[in-house]
Amino acid sequence: MSSFSYYQPTRIHFGFGKLEEVGRIVSRYGKRALLVTVPPFPALEPVFEKTKRLLRESGVEVAHFDQVIPNPTTESISQGTEMARDFHADVVVGLGGGSSIDTAKAIALEVTHEGTAWEYRLFGERKITGEVLPIIAIPTTSGTGSQVTAVSVLTNPKERCKSAIVDLHLFPKEAIVDPELVMSLPPHLTASTGFDAFAHAFESYVHVNANPYTDLLALEAMRLVIRFLPPLLHNPTDRRAREHMAWADTLAGLSIANCGTTLPHGIGMAIGGKAPWVMHGEALAVVYPEFLRYTAPYALERFAAVARMFRPELLGEKDEIAALALEEIMNTFLKEIGMWFGLEDLRIPREDLPGIVEDTFKLPDYSVNPRVPTKEDVFALLESAYSRR
Ligand code: NAD
Repeated sequence: MSSFSYYQPTRIHFGFGKLEEVGRIVSRYGKRALLVTVPPFPALEPVFEKTKRLLRESGVEVAHFDQVIPNPTTESISQGTEMARDFHADVVVGLGGGSSIDTAKAIALEVTHEGTAWEYRLFGERKITGEVLPIIAIPTTSGTGSQVTAVSVLTNPKERCKSAIVDLHLFPKEAIVDPELVMSLPPHLTASTGFDAFAHAFESYVHVNANPYTDLLALEAMRLVIRFLPPLLHNPTDRRAREHMAWADTLAGLSIANCGTTLPHGIGMAIGGKAPWVMHGEALAVVYPEFLRYTAPYALERFAAVARMFRPELLGEKDEIAALALEEIMNTFLKEIGMWFGLEDLRIPREDLPGIVEDTFKLPDYSVNPRVPTKEDVFALLESAYSRR
């Protein structure tokens, strides 16, 4: 067995109805909370209002920054920082999908540090020097795991580049994972975010630094997504399936927090920087068949283990056979969850492919793939994923 370290400081509150505890939880960290969300819309406005009421009833004053945009930008983060400064916020609550939680993290950093959050990104100009404001994360999607990671993903629209800030100070102090909040997710968002959870689990399982603890988390997360995501799309009100997807998301987040992601996430982030209209889960799904074909021969045993989770009948087959079947299995799974498409379908111009290749190599994910690609390899992979006709 390999030797390893595991660190996870976020206290997790999991279960239906856990949002009721938000006042008690937040008031441990401050008395002036900045609530960070997308603009109110019918599915989530009642949740935003309830959260504000619960916070105020616990003696916490609230300012509501409601200008998060999906695939959050440096500008929207700085708007939120200004509000946090004017309000003298002492705790930041991210309520929403990964975009809201990541915006909350970036604001909590920017408000206590010089310069902009972007300057603290991976391989950026500045290093985090100390404390950030305490962060409380409350997910309303089941996919990013951001509620338990030390990562904030952000996009610089001027540079058309998506990157991430990774620092132990960004771990939320507490995460409230209440599956009730995910009940309103429409099918395509359920599929896209659910596939993100699968990708986290799969990539940390095949990661060159996978360890026995992250394996445990990743395998269980994959098992749950394979079992509960497809039926959930036919029956979105299935509370048990929602609960299991929320747990799968959290497990996969705990796994990447101690291991990381590989090539698809590097490419997916690069796609997001060039094409911010593409959802993160879509940017991953679009390259998965090619990534599997490219990588399988270099991780036969682990690919085979996942193939057998989808198709137990492969238990009698050799690893080579099972591992190489995973691409076809993934095509079937992606079709089943409505996530099988090419870059063309996502309106990504062919002219952007060279830039996507360059940006993939600005992140570390490619270098920890079981098979480390060259730029030519990634270009060929994107070409192959361009059209699915
Ligand atoms: P999102 O936060 O961008 O939200 C997508 C859409 O879903 C939004 O329009 C939002 O309003 C809507 N929505 C959210 N909850 C809803 C609900 N309960 N009912 C109806 N609509 C709802 O989506 P996401 O996939 O959760 O987050 C994506 C972002 O997270 C990307 O920027 C991605 O790169 C990042 N990410 C971060 C980490 C991390 O560790 N920090 C990990 C993976 C991905």
